[in-house]
Parts: sequence; C-alpha cells; structure tokens
Amino acid sequence: MTDPLAFVHDEIRALSDASLLRTIRPLDSAQEPEVELDGRRVILLASNNYLGLAADLRIVEAAAEAARRWGAGAGSARLISGGVRLHDELETRLAAFKGTVSAVLFSSGYLANLGTISALVGRGDAIFSDELNHASIIDGARLSGAEVHIFRHADPAHLEELLETNRAGRRLVVTDAVFSMDGDLAPLPSLVDICERHNAILMVDEAHATGVVGPGGRGAIAAAGLEGRVPVVMGTLSKALGAAGGFIAGSAALISFLRNRARAFIFDTAPPPPVAAAALAALDVIAAEPWRADRARALARRLADGLARAGFRATDPAAAIVPVHVGEAEASLALSRALLAQNVLVPAIRPPSVPPGTARLRATVMATHTDDHIDAAIRAFAASRVGV
Ligand code: PMP
Repeated sequence: MTDPLAFVHDEIRALSDASLLRTIRPLDSAQEPEVELDGRRVILLASNNYLGLAADLRIVEAAAEAARRWGAGAGSARLISGGVRLHDELETRLAAFKGTVSAVLFSSGYLANLGTISALVGRGDAIFSDELNHASIIDGARLSGAEVHIFRHADPAHLEELLETNRAGRRLVVTDAVFSMDGDLAPLPSLVDICERHNAILMVDEAHATGVVGPGGRGAIAAAGLEGRVPVVMGTLSKALGAAGGFIAGSAALISFLRNRARAFIFDTAPPPPVAAAALAALDVIAAEPWRADRARALARRLADGLARAGFRATDPAAAIVPVHVGEAEASLALSRALLAQNVLVPAIRPPSVPPGTARLRATVMATHTDDHIDAAIRAFAASRVGV
C-alpha cells in the first residue's frame, strides 16, 4: 500500500533544499522589546505590536476583567447568540476612530478581507489589486470568483489603464495602505480620484497604518485627508492595538450588507469578549498617548537610517516596518541567523510571502523600544554583513 500523504514528505524536502522550510520558534515571554527565546534574552524586532500595547497592564487588565464578566469565549456567531454589548461598543468606537458611520468586527483581519471581498464581488465582476497586496486580499479575490487584474505596485496610471479596458460588472479596487512586507505607503489620493472618476469601489487595508499613521493614529486615509472618500476601510486589531480581530468601517448600508452577506462573519464564532475589551482599552490608550505612534515612527526612521549607513538596503519607512532587502532566500536566512547569534530577532521573509528573488529581513519597531535597543540592532546588522 502506498502512503497517500507521501507528497507531504516530498514537499518538505523540497522546501528544505530551497531554504524555504519554515518552523515555529516559540517565545517564553510576552511581546515586549526584549523577549525570552531558548533561554536567552533577545531584542525583538519582529512584532506587529507597534505601540507596545499587547502586554500593557491596562490592556491586560481590561481583558481579564472582561473574561470574568463575559467569559473566555463568545459561544456562537454574532447573529446567533454570540454578540454581547462589548462587540457593539467596539464597533461604534472603531467607526468613530475611522471617521465612518458604522463598522463590523471579524475574528481576524484575514477573515475581514476574505469575507468582505467575496461578498462585494463575484463572477462577472472585476477586482483590481496592487501586486504587493497582502495574502488575505489575494485569497479573498480568489474566493470571490471575480476576474482579478493586478496593477503594478503603487502605480495609479496602470490602475487607470486597467479600469479603462475592463468596464463590466461591479469593480473593486483594493490596496494595502502601508504595505506589509515593504513598509511603504499606497498613493491614496490618486487611487481615490481614479476610483471616483471610474465609479469603482475602493477598499483600503489599514492593517499596518491603524494606530501608527495619521492624526491620533487614525490611519493613512485620515493622514491624507481622505476620510469619507474611501467607501470600504479595513483594519486589524492584531497589530498596533495589541489584541486580535479585524474590522470593516463604512456606511450603515455597507455594514448591514456585510453582516448579511459576508460568510466569514456569518459562519464564524464572534470574537472572544476579552479580546474585544482589550481592543477597546487600546483605543483609549491611543487617544490618551499620541506619543506612542510618534515614537514608533521615529524609531523606524532611526533604524532605517542606521542600516543605510551600515550599507544595507533599507526602505524609507512610512510606519513601523523597515524591510532590509537581501535577495536570495538562503542569504536572508544567513543574515537572520547571524543576528540571532547576537541576540537580535529579525526573521527572514521568503517566498511565498514575497516574490522569488526578493527575500528580505522585515524589521519592525515598537514604541517601547529604547534608542539603545535600536542602536544595538544596527551594530548587530553591521557585524553580520554576509554577502549582503
Ligand atoms: N492585511 C494585512 C496588510 C496584513 O499584513 C495582515 C496580517 N499580517 C492582515 C491583513 C491579516 O490580519 P490578521 O493578522 O489580523 O488576521
């Protein structure tokens, strides 16, 4: 008898041979500037906990209190009996934060993209997607069954060309606001103009902008003065807000439509109450402590400048993400290992997370890092130049 799962072994071997095998490296502590890894303290430059809120005691206490009052799990989907007041309160706060009328929560940002894109468009419709959009957008587009047109990264002229030649059905334009693996900003003003002129729906994923960019951390749309002109605003609670979950903010009609049509909302258990409470507490901290976003962006610039001086190709950061371009997967792994040997944790990002030949280290900062953490990391990079 042959093993029907034999291909699993073959694929693992092939991944390993290509330096593409991934394994989980469990930490023994919370997402702080320094973490415990295999009995060592290392500087963490790999967390999306950009404002340092995931282990902030105020947020942790809010989650603990909510767990005692509402329980650990929601018990069922929102539309059945899993919806508690806390969810409604969080949605109201998120809508206000994003300058929209309404908002709906999903269990994750991934599900928000999957559910929303596949609800808005389907067979006979078209999606126009930036070539560097996040995997959850790509997967939502695939799930929808709509035709997918990829426009060149941050290239509004190419988008316009594609819109001019593809006029049938509903048309959805989707972009990351801050690109997850590149750390740069989408050309939102041009995208808004083009979508308005061509009567296309614009959806912007603010996962990496929320909390970090714009007035009061309200995101890249707010930073560009475009509130009210992006009909579908997506965000996550899992990064700067230090919790988990995703959301869509928009008109009351859009949100009601999604509650009735987005299968990733309808058929998924509601977010756990402690997680919703944590996100609410994080919104309070973000409002009260604007220094956190400023600090995260300043540290990202400090890191990028230092790395550039050390001879690395680091992109100018729009938020808290500093990609360090390497090229081949193997070289990116070697650099990451050399850094870890010096107690700095920056994982290598390899295909399929990024296109082949563009492997990189994705360094991210937290508002709670000290200047010394960043400078120590720069020194470790400088001492690790292995053919980069
Ligand atoms: N969109 C973007 C741009 C992301 O980077 C991510 C997370 N890596 C997501 C969506 C998914 O969000 P979550 O992790 O909350 O599921």
